[in-house]
Amino acid sequence: MDCIFCKIVEGSVPSKKVYENEHVLAFHDIQPSAPVHILIIPKKHIPTMNDVEAGDWGLIGEVHRAAQEIARQEGVAESGYRLINNCGSDSGQVVFHIHYHLLAGTKLGPLNA
Ligand code: C5P
Repeated sequence: MDCIFCKIVEGSVPSKKVYENEHVLAFHDIQPSAPVHILIIPKKHIPTMNDVEAGDWGLIGEVHRAAQEIARQEGVAESGYRLINNCGSDSGQVVFHIHYHLLAGTKLGPLNA
């Protein structure tokens, strides 16, 4: 499987993990855009939001649940955070394994900046 995030899930590519359960993994982004920049992924390979199938919505809910827990764990739940999913070329998605960016730790700028 030529997917960098699948390799991170397998452990053949290293990552700085912050959260893991049976279905979800989260790790620090290697090129952070904010003081807290964590990527949250389902372990299952789903390329983009467009590829989420009927049976996957529980898993996507698990990713959101993990985001809530990670925000608390990182101490940013109260100050606030942004959860972003890029889908497809116009969004700037570069890794085609669905993921959410959790950004926090500073006053974040406008979305289109
Ligand atoms: O949403 P998008 O696909 O643009 O974001 C992919 C993110 O994955 C980037 O922020 C990049 O820094 C991160 N990345 C990473 N570790 C890798 C490869 C990419 O944290 N090994």
